Parts: sequence; structure tokens; C-alpha cells
Amino acid sequence: MNNMQNLYRQVIMDHYSHPRNKGLTGNGKQNHLRNPSCGDDITVEAEIENGIVKHVHHDGHGCSICCSSASVMSEILTGKTVEEAKEIIKTYFQMIKGENIEDEDILEEALVYQGVAQFPARTKCATIAWKAVEDLLGEKDEEE
Ligand code: ZN
Repeated sequence: MNNMQNLYRQVIMDHYSHPRNKGLTGNGKQNHLRNPSCGDDITVEAEIENGIVKHVHHDGHGCSICCSSASVMSEILTGKTVEEAKEIIKTYFQMIKGENIEDEDILEEALVYQGVAQFPARTKCATIAWKAVEDLLGEKDEEE
């Protein structure tokens, strides 16, 4: 394992062991998604106000990839505008699919999941929380 992979692994295990923004607050909209092939079961909650993602929380259980990526995602998206958040989510999905991405800086810590592209069986684990929040952002758009 090279140093970069080692660093990525440490970030993932840190977020898995000490998830940020875990636990639902009852504010905002919630979306519950499951990944039966792995047993991941996650609820994401996002509160959007004036076009800004005020907070993102998550709860549930699953594998280290799923739970840690929910934690990383909640940190990155909180405080962003809805447009920025959508761009970040889109770029993240491109990275997970192994596509070339234009602006990897916007992914911040989520870059640690780029190795998942080599393991197609795990891509659902890495994207389930992100898909859940993408749905929430999309809903908001339709209302406005
Ligand atoms: Zn999983």
C-alpha cells in the first residue's frame, strides 16, 4: 500500500469511527435509502434555506465505505449553495465511475473515495448517501 492509499484509508476509518453530523435533528427533509447487496441502510437529512444547504445530517448503519462517505459528504455540503452542492455531487459520481473530472478540488476530502472506481461492487456503498442527498436537493428545486 502506498502512502496515498494509506492516507485515504485513515480518513475513511476516522470518519467511520467518529462520524460527523450523525443523528437526525427533525429539521429539514429526509430521504431513506437501502443497499440490500451490502446491508447499508441510511437516512440523510438536509435543511435548505434561501438556496443554502444549512445542514446535512445522516443516520443508519452499513459498511465503512457507506457510513464514512455519509459523514464526509455531510461536512462538505454543509454551508454550500444548492448549485455548488449539486456540482460537487455530480463530480463525485463521475469520480466513482472512474471518469475524468475537471475540478477535483471541489471534492475536498471526498477524493479519498477515488479508489472505489476500481471496485464496481462497492460503488453503491460509496454513492448511496450522496444519491439520497441529491434527491433532496432536486425536490427543493421543483418547489421553487
Ligand atoms: Zn456497503
